[in-house]
Amino acid sequence: MSETIFSKIIRREIPADIVYEDDLAIAFKDIAPQAPVHIIIIPKKPIPQIAAAETEDEALLGHLLLTAKKVAAQVGLTNGYRLVINNGSDGGQTVYHLHLHILGGRQMEWPPG
Ligand code: 5GP
Repeated sequence: MSETIFSKIIRREIPADIVYEDDLAIAFKDIAPQAPVHIIIIPKKPIPQIAAAETEDEALLGHLLLTAKKVAAQVGLTNGYRLVINNGSDGGQTVYHLHLHILGGRQMEWPPG
């Protein structure tokens, strides 16, 4: 897959406000927050999008969800939050390195736009 800005964040080639990191994943604040708390969680493995994930990625995908839960608690989202994965053009994906959005700190609406 082609290089993305998120690969540069993993390698510390561009700055990011990193809030969590382990061997498999890294989480950082979104540069254009859509809520009072807006954090991006990415696998260090460069999977372009959820549609490109393979069976061998099953444990990694579970790890990302558990990491989201951990990070949400770490930043104090005790009243709830939303997890979002945008996939492809219609899904509104702009960076083709798989990522989860944690959105919180305000009441979310449904349906999303
Ligand atoms: P997508 O639209 O692909 O689901 O989400 C990409 C997200 O990455 C957007 O919310 C966008 O604001 C964020 N983003 C794009 N470039 C950067 C960057 O260089 N640094 C950070 N921290 N976030 C970024």
